[in-house]
Amino acid sequence: MDPNASSRRFPSSNRLKGKVAIVTGGARGIGAATAELFAKNGAYVVIADILDELGTKLADSIGGRYIHCDVSKEKDVESAVQLALAWKGKLDIMFNNAGIGGPGGSISNLNMEDVRDLLSINLFGIIHGIKYASRAMIAGKNGGSIICSSSSAAIMGGLASHAYTASKNAILGLAKTTACELGVHGIRVNCISPHGVPSEMLMAAYRICLGRDDLTPEEVTQIVGERASLLRGRGGSMEDVAQAVLFLASDDSGFITAHNLVIDGGYTSACSHLS
Ligand code: NAD
Repeated sequence: MDPNASSRRFPSSNRLKGKVAIVTGGARGIGAATAELFAKNGAYVVIADILDELGTKLADSIGGRYIHCDVSKEKDVESAVQLALAWKGKLDIMFNNAGIGGPGGSISNLNMEDVRDLLSINLFGIIHGIKYASRAMIAGKNGGSIICSSSSAAIMGGLASHAYTASKNAILGLAKTTACELGVHGIRVNCISPHGVPSEMLMAAYRICLGRDDLTPEEVTQIVGERASLLRGRGGSMEDVAQAVLFLASDDSGFITAHNLVIDGGYTSACSHLS
């Protein structure tokens, strides 16, 4: 299970009572925190990931379901949606969260196979998610909420690799255009853009950048808090992101669609104030 899970302090409430949700990439990191928070708010959660052991453990602990689902494979994503429909007869929330980092290096030396691999997950995975979730939501005639993981890297250049940055920008356009089409069905499509959350993905990037294999999540949070947040030393957490996703998933955000909710402690708006 996610090492952070036991320390989470989510109060239970019923903001998603009876709703059915899929969280791709829900076995660990931001996805796991969100799956937990959804369940604590009364949702039935399907975790769709490739980390079978972690995903199954977490699903069992929150009364959810786990399915092995490589989001780059259209059939796998279709099967995840089918599981939700077979389990509870509907799908209300799709959190298209699965993503990978890299590949680094200069544009003139990019390995195109690596770029294709990244886009097959970070971009095609999201297209698959929107395609099958919207199909189920339209058939269900009860609206729905689709949330896609973009990134601060979609807002500022130079924060991440070329391919990652391109994928996260593409998601913003994709979500807006999808929102235009699906609004008539009461389906909202929004993005989130987190920054500096010490997940496995970010830790791997920081370890390479700083050349330190022994870096801890606490150290990364401290670094982010000092260098990449306007909030006086406060870095971001998985729970911060999960709470924002909960808002977009719930009826509290019922008039919000085609939006990109930035969760970055102000970093991308005012980086010139930071040392
Ligand atoms: P993470 O590596 O902890 O989690 C990513 C999850 O996606 C893992 O559970 C992994 O197994 C899963 N995954 C990877 N490839 C998959 C595939 N082909 N099919 C299904 N699942 C797959 O990292 P995270 O930071 O929690 O990342 C979650 C999302 O948040 C990503 O889309 C990432 O780009 C985005 N994001 C994170 C940050 C941050 O600061 N951590 C910032 C901006 C955006």
